Amino acid sequence: MDDQILLTEKRHITMTPDRFLSKVKELPETLQPKDIGSNILAPLFSYIITEPVKYREGYKLLQNKLLDITLRMAKENASYYTEIIPNDDNWTLSKLDQLPTLNKEALYNNRSGVLSEITTFGFVTFTTGTTNQPPLLIERSQEEQLYLQNFFSILQSGMLHSEKLKPLGIVEGSMNHGSVLRLPGIGYNFMIELTKDYGVIRTAWLLQNEFNFKGIEQKVSQLNTTVMGLSYLYQYLTEQNIEIPPDQLNAITIFGWPVPKSRRKKFEMFFNVKISDNYSMSEMFGGAKYCQQCDGYHFDPFVIPEIVDLETGKQLETGTGELVLTPLFPFTQRFVLIRYRTGDLVDVAKVSCDKGTLVYTFRGRLKRCVKMNSNLYFGEAEIAKAIDEIEELNRAPTGFSIFKDNNKNNWPLFKMVKNGEQFEILFELTFNPQEAPNRSNKVLKKIYDKILFELPESVINWIQEHPKNFKITLKAPSSFEKRDYWNL
Ligand SMILES: [Zn+2]
Repeated sequence: MDDQILLTEKRHITMTPDRFLSKVKELPETLQPKDIGSNILAPLFSYIITEPVKYREGYKLLQNKLLDITLRMAKENASYYTEIIPNDDNWTLSKLDQLPTLNKEALYNNRSGVLSEITTFGFVTFTTGTTNQPPLLIERSQEEQLYLQNFFSILQSGMLHSEKLKPLGIVEGSMNHGSVLRLPGIGYNFMIELTKDYGVIRTAWLLQNEFNFKGIEQKVSQLNTTVMGLSYLYQYLTEQNIEIPPDQLNAITIFGWPVPKSRRKKFEMFFNVKISDNYSMSEMFGGAKYCQQCDGYHFDPFVIPEIVDLETGKQLETGTGELVLTPLFPFTQRFVLIRYRTGDLVDVAKVSCDKGTLVYTFRGRLKRCVKMNSNLYFGEAEIAKAIDEIEELNRAPTGFSIFKDNNKNNWPLFKMVKNGEQFEILFELTFNPQEAPNRSNKVLKKIYDKILFELPESVINWIQEHPKNFKITLKAPSSFEKRDYWNL
């Protein structure tokens, strides 16, 4: 009870990093599930979520304690881990690389072994899967659902008891990202979809109208969508000359795929609000948030991120590697993932920022990256983002029919090819480059400029040091075979 008062009323007056550390130290040396109920963890996490660097000492200790219980629970209750995890009752982040990593292939083959036997089946989400495999079903428990609901209710209790009108929002459902589990938001959310004509038209209507639900704001003030969803909504609103009053929206959150810089800028100008961009995956609860100050992502405290060297698999502190995640108990309980290899190529660097000491840059799916040497990779996603703004690049069809250009928002069509020491990117244009050499030269220059401006320094340096090994080729429309851009 004390903690709850602290959370809602006294927090800014009384908490200091030292006091926070001693509060974490008051927790038992070896945690049991009963020691970390939502009434205990939510107040502590309220400090970590808002000021992770200020409270980093206590945060680090708490993270190690949660990692320890996560690994003990995994060993005891999920058969796949019983042999893999050695006996230890003092696991810490620094010992984590004694354990093997778990890749997607192994997860497919041990899907039932990673389930915690002491949890109760609640519901299922799934990943997109790969070309050869069906989607991976991810089970969640009733226990973690209840835990998260209580946890977030406590975190938001200040707002819950406020007299102010609660927010009205729009939330896009996605089968593959974010939470099928609806966390208790304060206020009310319209559920929408932005993948078809009528969904976009309906959402624009919701955004422009006033409603009269008791205790809830009259106009929509929050949006939570995919990057593509927001792109379609933006295109519809601008093509129809619909203006959203500059003070109407106070939060836009997007999830799934990182938003290209050029789109972010356009959206933020149009809606007059900063966009919160989240990296998340359906395999677990928790992810990373975009930081405007660092122009990269900081992980939230519900998961432990590591990067591992792409050749040796050894844990790295900073540099380029594969992202490995361990979602923490009790936020993830049934589908237990210990050192899960995400298949994502990331760069990690130290920063001095209030929101984190490490910043992560997501460069693309490893499967769709091209390796030039042990330190140099071209990420397909980072190239797609860099050149996204160039209108002369051809794009895959979307299935919409309400727009002037229905395919405008899809990712540009291009292909990366490695041939010995040579790296070539082929781009499909909206016109035949041989019929318009002047125009295609201009596009070529735009592509170079964008790539040399937006790609990571390691890549730019390589291109500048090996100009003969880097080649861009422009192709006519319909030069490439169809492909999916889900997992870019
Ligand atoms: Zn930052």
